[in-house]
Amino acid sequence: MANFFIYQADVWCYDDGEAIREKLRRSDKAPPDEDDERSFDSDDYPKGPYDGEREEADSPQHCAAGADCLNAEVLHDGSEIGQWLENPLTEYGLKHLRGEVLNLLRGTRIRGSAAVLEFWRNAYADEIGTLHEVAVGEETVYQGFDDREAESAFTKYAEQSDTHRGKAANELVKWFHDGKLWEEFDGRS
Ligand SMILES: [Zn+2]
Repeated sequence: MANFFIYQADVWCYDDGEAIREKLRRSDKAPPDEDDERSFDSDDYPKGPYDGEREEADSPQHCAAGADCLNAEVLHDGSEIGQWLENPLTEYGLKHLRGEVLNLLRGTRIRGSAAVLEFWRNAYADEIGTLHEVAVGEETVYQGFDDREAESAFTKYAEQSDTHRGKAANELVKWFHDGKLWEEFDGRS
C-alpha cells in the first residue's frame, strides 16, 4: 500500500505529504476544511491521500522528495530515491520498461541510472514477465518478453529447418526462459 499526495505538480509519499501539511498547518496556511478538496488548490496544499496502486501511469512514480524522502528506497549502489508509489503501468509504460530492461541486459545505452532500472525491474517483475531467448548455435535470434514471438522464432529455426533450408539445418536451436533451457532442437545431422 502506498498512498500519496499531490502537491505543486508533484507526487509525494504519504509521510512527506503529511509532513508538508503539518508544516502548513503550523504556519496557518491550511485550508479551513482540508477534506473538501474543491476548496483549495494542490499548488497551495497537498491533496490526497490517493491510493497509489490505483493510479496507472506511463512511468514508475516516486515521491518527489527524492533522496530526502522519509521512506526513501535504497538502491543496490547505495543511492536513494523517493518511495516507490506502487502505481501500475500503462501498456505504453510497460512496453518502454521492457525495452529498457532489454537494453540493460544487452549492455546498450539506457536513459537513466542502471540502479533505478534494476529497482524497477524487480518492482515490476510480474508485469514485465519472463525473458525469452532463442539461440541458433551461438547466435541469439530472439530476445524479449513476448512468448509468442519467441515461439515463432523457435519454430522457424527448429521445426521447419528440415523442410526449409533454414539457418538451423545443422545447428542446435535453444529456447531459454529466464536463462533456463526450455526447449531444444538438435538440427545437426
Ligand atoms: Zn517521501
